[in-house]
Amino acid sequence: MAKRDYYEILGVERSADEREIKKAYKRLAMKFHPDRNPDNPESEEKFKEAKEAYEVLSDAQKRAAYDKFGHAGVDPNQAGPGGFGGSADFGDVFGDIFGDIFGGGRRSQRAARGADLRYNMELTLEEAVRGVSKEIKVPTLVECDECHGSGARTGTSAQTCPTCHGSGQVQMRQGFFAVTQACPHCHGKGKIITDPCRKCHGDGRVQKTKTLSVKIPAGVDTGDRIRLAGEGEAGEFGAPAGDLYVQVHVKDHPIFVRDGNNLYCEIPISFTTAALGGEVAVPTLDGRLMLKIPSETQSGRMFRLRGKGVRSLRSGTEGDLLCKAVVETPVKLSDEQKELLKQLEDSLNGSGVKTHKPKAEGFFEGVKRFFDDLTG
Ligand SMILES: [Zn+2]
Ligand SMILES: [Zn+2]
Repeated sequence: MAKRDYYEILGVERSADEREIKKAYKRLAMKFHPDRNPDNPESEEKFKEAKEAYEVLSDAQKRAAYDKFGHAGVDPNQAGPGGFGGSADFGDVFGDIFGDIFGGGRRSQRAARGADLRYNMELTLEEAVRGVSKEIKVPTLVECDECHGSGARTGTSAQTCPTCHGSGQVQMRQGFFAVTQACPHCHGKGKIITDPCRKCHGDGRVQKTKTLSVKIPAGVDTGDRIRLAGEGEAGEFGAPAGDLYVQVHVKDHPIFVRDGNNLYCEIPISFTTAALGGEVAVPTLDGRLMLKIPSETQSGRMFRLRGKGVRSLRSGTEGDLLCKAVVETPVKLSDEQKELLKQLEDSLNGSGVKTHKPKAEGFFEGVKRFFDDLTG
C-alpha cells in the first residue's frame, strides 16, 4: 500500500509553520486517540499515521529530508541517519502536547517519585573560594520507619485496588468520548490500605527536618548548584526519593569584586607615591602582599597579580587579582601645605617642560580639535 503524504495526512499546506503542524496534529490526535476510541483498529491506524507525520514534520531536520526525498528520506523502518524509531508507543510526542489533558491519569499509574527540593545557601567570598562544609537543616518528607514506606500497619499490607485492578486509572464516558481518569477509589495509587500505619496514617511518609552536611567545593560562584542525589522528599509508597539542589549565592565582599575567576579591587595611593613611585600593601584572600608602584603612575592604572584570584572549580587554573590604582587628592590641607602645592604648581608650569601633565596635554589637544571641527 502506498504511503500517504505527511502534509496530506495532517491536512496542512507544504508551507505550514510549526504551530499549524502542531495544531493539526493535536486536532487529529484528539479525534483518533485510542483512549477515546477503544477497540477501533481503524482510528488507531489513523492515530499512528498522524503521529508518524507529526514526528517527521515537527522536526526541522527530518522535515527537510522528507521534503527532498519523500518517504525514502525518513523511512521509519530504516535505521541510521535520517531514519527514526518507528515504535508504536504513544508516549513522548503525545505527552508533550497532551500532558495537561491525559497526563494526570497516566502519571498516577505508578506511585510518584519524591519531589526535588531546593536549598538556598549564602556563602561569603572566602567560603566560596576555599570551599567549606556546612550543616543544613531541611524540612522534608522522609520514609516512615514504622511501615517502611508501605503505609500499611505493621503486619498487614496494602491491597490491590479492586476498581482499577492496580492500574490507578479508569475509563469514564463523557458524551461521545471515553476519557481515562485517575481511579476515584484509590485516587490513582492502584492500592488500597485498609489498615493504615498509625504513625504516617497511610501516607508512607512523615514530616521531618533532616540535618545534612554539605561539602561545598572550592571555587563555586553564584548560580552554581550542587545536587545531592536522593536527599529530596521520599517517594510515595517506597518510590525513589527526589534530589536536593543546593543553590549557591555568594555575598558581596567589602573589598573584592569577583568576575569569574578574577578578583578586582581598588587601591588608594597617595599623590606623592603615584609621582615618585613606592610600595603599597595590597590585600589578597591569603593575606597582604607588597605591590611596587612605579613612578609616574596615573590614576586608574591596573596592576595584575597573577594567580592571586580564584582557583577554577572546573579547570583548576587560577585567576588573577587586578588592582586599580586610585590616586588620592590630599584633603584638609594646612596653609603651609597649600602654599607648598602652589609653589609646586608654579614650578611645573614655569619649567617649560610640557610633559609634566601627559593626560592634560592629550585632553586639551583633543578639546581644541573638537572646537576647530565645530567651527569648521
Ligand atoms: Zn507508616
Ligand atoms: Zn483504583
